[in-house]
Formats: sequence, C-alpha cells, structure tokens
Amino acid sequence: MPEKQARIATDTEIREAAAAVLAARYAIALTGAGMSVESGIPPFRGPGGLWTKYGEPPMNGFQRFLADPKKGWEERLSSRSDELMKPIAIAEPNPGHLAFAQLEQLGVLKFLITQNVDDLHRRAGQKALAEIHGNWKLIRCLDCNLRFQRERISLEVLPPRCPECSGLLKSDTVSFGEPIPSDVLRACAEHAARSDLVIVAGTSATVYPAAGFALEVKERGGALIEVNLYESEITPICDLSLRGGSANVLPRLVATISERRRAALS
Ligand SMILES: [Zn+2]
Repeated sequence: MPEKQARIATDTEIREAAAAVLAARYAIALTGAGMSVESGIPPFRGPGGLWTKYGEPPMNGFQRFLADPKKGWEERLSSRSDELMKPIAIAEPNPGHLAFAQLEQLGVLKFLITQNVDDLHRRAGQKALAEIHGNWKLIRCLDCNLRFQRERISLEVLPPRCPECSGLLKSDTVSFGEPIPSDVLRACAEHAARSDLVIVAGTSATVYPAAGFALEVKERGGALIEVNLYESEITPICDLSLRGGSANVLPRLVATISERRRAALS
C-alpha cells in the first residue's frame, strides 16, 4: 500500500532536481495515470475507477477484435463506450502537462514516453512524444502503423480500411493482448538508450514495457527523479523523489530551471 502523502517537495529539493536535470545530457520523461487523475480523469482500476464502474475490458480484447473487427468497431462506437470515454473527452491538460511541454521548448527535455491515452500531452504542446498505449483520438492501421484523425476516416462501412494500404483499421488505443506498435517501441528504445536521466511522473513505473526504459537508464548509471504524491515501488532506486502532484511540482521545477538558465546567460 502506498503510504499516506507526507509532505510536498521543498524548494531545496526542487533546486537539487533542477541542477540534476540541467546537468543531464539527454533527459527524458515517463508519465502515467497520476497525471491524468490530476486532470480529473478517474483511474481505470480501484474505487471510482472507470473499469470498476463499466466492467474491465476482456484480457483477450485484441484477439476478439481480430476475430470480428466489425463487432469490435460497433462496440467502440456504442453509447456505452462514449459514456466510458466522457471523462477523457472533457479533460484539459493541467499545469504538469504544460510544464513538460515547456521543458521541451527550453531544450531541456528531449523525449517523453507516456502510458496515458488521453491526448493531454499533445494538447499541451509536447512534440517529441511516444504514447506507448496509444491515443484514444486516433485510428491506427494494423498493417502500416499510420495514424489518422477520426474525422478523416469514414465509419459508414465497418470495419474501416486504411486509405493508404487498405489494411485493417483499429482504434490506436492498445487493447489487452495487443502488442505495443513496433514504431512506438523503437522510438522509446532509441531515446532511452541515449538518456542519462529520467523524470518519472505520476506512475509507479511497474507496468512493462514502459518501466523497462526507466530501469534501463538507471542500470547504465543514469539518474531517476520521481514526481509522485506517494512513495511508489521505484522510490527506493530513485536518486531524488519529489513528493506532490505533477501540477504542483513540475511548474516549480520549470521555474527554477528557467531562472538558472537566465542566470547562466547573464
Ligand atoms: Zn495502412
């Protein structure tokens, strides 16, 4: 069980983290459900969770989709699915999402891996991004991996086909039993291999393969900075743990980094 929130990161801890991030050659970030929760999206599991309320998707969801893609699409387009997605549809990026986008603009953060499907990092302006579990707004071709905005695809005939290669189209959100798309995995592996510091925010980093990228950087001698309300499974191996929500901690980190940058230039 995570321990009760004890305190919020001090300014000294934030300064320490800022120095570490600025000293890094290739800082990347790994984010998870905690950041979505701060935008008002309930977690999938646990009390009040979306799956607790609407039922957990089948563990072989991908195989079921492949067996009957038409039915899979009909379920996806049902009003029940709309209701499930409503909290995601109305959510807005929070100051934590905006802070990561600013770190990228400052040239400090080189890449971000998220386990969230809610599109909030993109909407905050993040450009160098891998959505390891997909993006709920996109449709992906299972053959050529191209992604399409939903409006671009006619759903009159189900299942829809890829405009480029006629392959089978599916929601980009990765289903249970579905492999993580190879292009996403490749991008994550490439950036993790270059990285010497990972900011892990709103996730206990125990879900593979995402967790593996952070652990790999640590094993190579890199640093892990955790931003989380609670102690998590990775706290013991983190070089710095900043307690508090991403929306509190990350904007403070960005402010300190910007300040140091200005001081260094003047
Ligand atoms: Zn295609």
